[in-house]
Amino acid sequence: MPSTSGIASRLAAVRARIDAAATAAGRAPHDVRLLLATKTQDAATVLEALDAAADLADRAGDPRPVLVGENRVQELVAKAPDLAAHVAAGRLEVHMIGHLQRNKANQLLATASCLETVDTLDLARALSARCARDGRELAVMVQVNVSGEASKSGVAPDHAAELATGVAALPGLRLTGFMTIGARAEDEAVVRAGFARLREVSDAVVASGAPGTAEARELSMGMTGDLELAIAEGATIVRVGTAVFGARPAPAAPPEV
Ligand SMILES: *Cc1c(COP(=O)(O)O)cnc(C)c1O
Repeated sequence: MPSTSGIASRLAAVRARIDAAATAAGRAPHDVRLLLATKTQDAATVLEALDAAADLADRAGDPRPVLVGENRVQELVAKAPDLAAHVAAGRLEVHMIGHLQRNKANQLLATASCLETVDTLDLARALSARCARDGRELAVMVQVNVSGEASKSGVAPDHAAELATGVAALPGLRLTGFMTIGARAEDEAVVRAGFARLREVSDAVVASGAPGTAEARELSMGMTGDLELAIAEGATIVRVGTAVFGARPAPAAPPEV
């Protein structure tokens, strides 16, 4: 069925941006995955984007599942029934990219395979206990607030390595990397320095040789407005919403990030 929404063509344009930025940075396009940031989009729209993304990946010879990220557990749960078959078939992997309240841990575990926003050891311990009890594993990333902006979640960069080492040692959790939201700044050098800081944290943690840290190499950073800067600093996952889906309606409440 031909699409009239424009998602497929916008998605292709975003992928071209990513590929160009990777090439300019001397990196392989394959090293940077696109995560579809689907907050406020309904399930039908997410499925349309999934098909378009899977098609692009096929043509690029990329067998990995398409990545989707949600900000709110409520939305994850609402869309989960429509996505479940695709997850089971290995076509789709769902990440939580918004702040998680501890009392939503069970719903998270039922619907997502990676939580990108661990920012306290308390939260990690609660998830670890549930995973250990259920005999399962959850991939996690540590969210770092590289800009220091009060509106953003995440551990301070100076405490990120310590938190990551603590998280990596917990049973049931697999530390796969680090996530950040770039500074809201006009000056590209400021934004880029924040992304470089995340890479330095990751490099230091991996080099530490601490148990469970060897695979913490994912850097989830870069969005519609700053993905080129993030890729130049080593992003392995860029999280894109607006450039694929168009502008979101203004939220009634501030987004949980
Ligand atoms: C909304 C969101 C994105 C995508 O932002 P765009 O500017 O729409 O591309 C990425 N990451 C997080 C955590 C978000 O909440």
